[in-house]
Amino acid sequence: MNRLDKIAILGLGLIGSSIAHAARRAKLADDIAGHDASDDVLARAQVLGFCDSLHGDAVSAVAGADVVILCSPVGAYKEIAERIAPHLKPGAILSDVGSVKSAVIRDVGPFVPKGVHFIPAHPIAGTEFSGPEAGFASLFDGRWAILTPMRGADPEAVERLKEFWQALGSQVDVMNAGHHDLVLAITSHLPHLIAYNIVGTAHDLEKVTQGEVIKYSASGFRDFTRIAASDPTMWRDVFLNNRDAVLEVLGRFNEDLSQLQRAVRNGDGKTLFDWFTRTRAIRRAIVNTGQDVPSFGRLPFQVYIPPPKKRKGAKKKKSAAGKAKKKKPVPRKAARKTARAKRRVR
Ligand code: NAP
Repeated sequence: MNRLDKIAILGLGLIGSSIAHAARRAKLADDIAGHDASDDVLARAQVLGFCDSLHGDAVSAVAGADVVILCSPVGAYKEIAERIAPHLKPGAILSDVGSVKSAVIRDVGPFVPKGVHFIPAHPIAGTEFSGPEAGFASLFDGRWAILTPMRGADPEAVERLKEFWQALGSQVDVMNAGHHDLVLAITSHLPHLIAYNIVGTAHDLEKVTQGEVIKYSASGFRDFTRIAASDPTMWRDVFLNNRDAVLEVLGRFNEDLSQLQRAVRNGDGKTLFDWFTRTRAIRRAIVNTGQDVPSFGRLPFQVYIPPPKKRKGAKKKKSAAGKAKKKKPVPRKAARKTARAKRRVR
C-alpha cells in the first residue's frame, strides 16, 4: 500500500504497540503517533521507541491522521470516540481492534462524522501478556484479521484497510459484525470463560489438594492457566459486550457437557471414544492450516497426533533406496522413548 502521512494508535498495550512495531517494519507511515490514557504507559512507550510521536491527548494524536485505530479495552471506546470524532480528518479511516464487534458499532458508530470511514476490525492474534513491553512486530504474521464494515461502507476504504492489515502481515477476511461475534464466542470467548472457571475451581480446591494442583499442573491444567492469565479488564469488557452470543454458545456447551457427564456415569466407552476421535480430527485440521503455533512462535505444548491408520491390506510403496537397504528394526524400548519425546515438546 502507499505510504501514509500519519497513523494514530490510541492505547499502547500489547495490540497497539504491536501495530506500531509492524507498521514501522512495513514502513507504512511517516508518523506513527501513539496515545495512551496512562502517563506511565506513555513514559514506557517513549523508552521502547516504537512510535514516532507520543501524545498525552487523543485529539492531538488523531489530528491529520489517515488511519486512526482504537486499541484500548472495548469499554473505553465510547468515551474516546466522542472525544476524537470532531477532530478526525475528512477521508480518514477510523478503525479498532476490539474482540467484539456489534457493541463497538453501537458505541462508536453514532459519533462518526460524515466523510470519515468507520470500519471495525479484529486481529485474531494475541498472547496472555499485556502492556507496551508485550508488543512485537511479527504478532500478526500469518494470522487472520477480520473486518466488519457496516452496510453502505465505502468499498475503496475497506480495500485500503485490507491492504493496511496485509502490510502488517495478516490475512484478511470480511464478514458482518453479528456473525463475527458468534464465531468468536465459540472459538475465543467460551474457551477463556472455561479456563477462568477451571483455574478458579482448582484454586478453591487447593486446600483439599494441598498444593498438588501446581505440582502436577503439566497434566493439562497448565495449558488452561496460560489462557486464564489473560488481561482481566479486556476480558471483563468482552463478556459485558458479547453477552448474547456467549450465552447462546454456553447453553449449547452445557448440553454437550451433560451428554459427556452421562457417558462417564454410564461407563459408555463408545460415546467417549467417538467424541474424542472427532475432536482429535479438529486439532489435526488446525495443525494443517498452520494456526496451531502461538504468535510468538513457541508452542506452549505440542501434541503428537499420529496419522490415520492405514487400511488393512494396503501395500506400502518401497523407494529405490528402501529396496536396496533393508532398515534394521528399532528395539521396542527405543521406539517407545522416541514416541514419548515426540508427544511432548516444551
Ligand atoms: P492492553 O495490553 O491492556 O493495552 C490496552 C492499553 O489501553 C493500556 O495501555 C491501557 O492503559 C490503555 N487504555 C485504557 N483506557 C484507555 C483510554 N481511555 N484511552 C487510551 N488508552 C487507554 O490490552 P490489549 O491486549 O492490547 O487489548 C487492547 C484491545 O485489543 C482490546 O480492545 C482487545 O479486545 C483487543 N484484542 C486483544 C487481543 C489479545 O489477545 N490481548 C487480541 C485481539 C484483540 P492502562 O493499562 O493504564 O489501563
